[in-house]
Amino acid sequence: MKIIVHGGAWAIPDNAVEDHLKGVTQAVKQGLREKNALDAVEKAINTMEDDPTFDAGYGSFLNANGEIELDAIIAENSNFGAVAGVSKVKNPISLAKKILKDNEVNFIVGRGAEEYAGKKGVPLCDPRELIMERELKRWEQIKKENKKPEDFFHSTVGAVALDENGNIAAGTSTGGTPNKIPGRVGDSPIFGAGCYADSSIGISATGYGEYIMRVLLSRTVAELYKKMELKQACKEALTVLRDIRGYGGVISIDIKGNFGYSFNTPRMAYAFNEGNKINSLI
Ligand code: ASP
Repeated sequence: MKIIVHGGAWAIPDNAVEDHLKGVTQAVKQGLREKNALDAVEKAINTMEDDPTFDAGYGSFLNANGEIELDAIIAENSNFGAVAGVSKVKNPISLAKKILKDNEVNFIVGRGAEEYAGKKGVPLCDPRELIMERELKRWEQIKKENKKPEDFFHSTVGAVALDENGNIAAGTSTGGTPNKIPGRVGDSPIFGAGCYADSSIGISATGYGEYIMRVLLSRTVAELYKKMELKQACKEALTVLRDIRGYGGVISIDIKGNFGYSFNTPRMAYAFNEGNKINSLI
C-alpha cells in the first residue's frame, strides 16, 4: 500500500506545526492498516476528521451563523461519492464512501444527505458535538476583525492511496472556510476540483476553494500528467492556480506508485509512506 495525506496548505503557525505533523503521521499509520485503497483513504481521513487540529469533522470552522457545515468526497476509477453542507454527520467521508458504493447518485447535499445517512446506517450526531470552544472563540474574533477569505486558514484534509491490486482512491474532507456564507460550498467535494481519481492517478487538493474550483485543480494535474512526470504535473498545476492568483496545494499518486505534491502557500502539512517508514513534512 502506498498512501499520501495532507492536512491543509496555508501559513501554518510554528505553534501548530507539531500537531499537524502528528496528525498527518497518524493518518498514514491508520490508512496503512487497510488492504484496499478506498478503505485506506477513508480510514486516513476519518483519523483527521476526528482530530481537532484539522478543519474537517470535529473541530471544524463555523459558518457565519455559528454552525458547522461539512463537505467531503471520495473517488475511485473515474467515479465518486460526495456530500456537502452536512451538520449532523461525524465522518462525512464515510457517508461519501457509502454514496460511491451504492452507485445510484454521486452527490447529495444538506438535509437529504443527512436523511440518506440515517437510512443507510452511517452514524449521525448532534451538530453541537462537532463544535469546539476554540472555534466559537475564533468565530467571534473573525466577526470582530472582519477578515477577508485570503487571510483564512486552510486545514482541510485529504488522502490518496494505491493498493497492491493497482486500485487508486482519493478523498477530501473539510469544514470549509471560517465564517463562510451559510450554504457556501468550496472546491473540496467537487470532482475534478478538490479531488480526482481515475485508473492511472489520484489527487486531493486544498487551499482557497473559490480559485481551485475555477481551474479544476485536481483534474488539471491529471491532464498535465498525460504529458509529463507526476512531480512536474503537480508543480505545473500550481502555476495554473497561481496565474489566477489562487493558492493551495495538491497531493497525488500515480499507478506506477510515484508520489507527487506541490503547494504555493508558506506551508503544507503532508505525509507519505515508504514501506513501513512514514515521512511527515510541513
Ligand atoms: N478548499 C477548502 C474550501 O475552500 C478549504 C481548505 O482547503 O482548507 O472549502
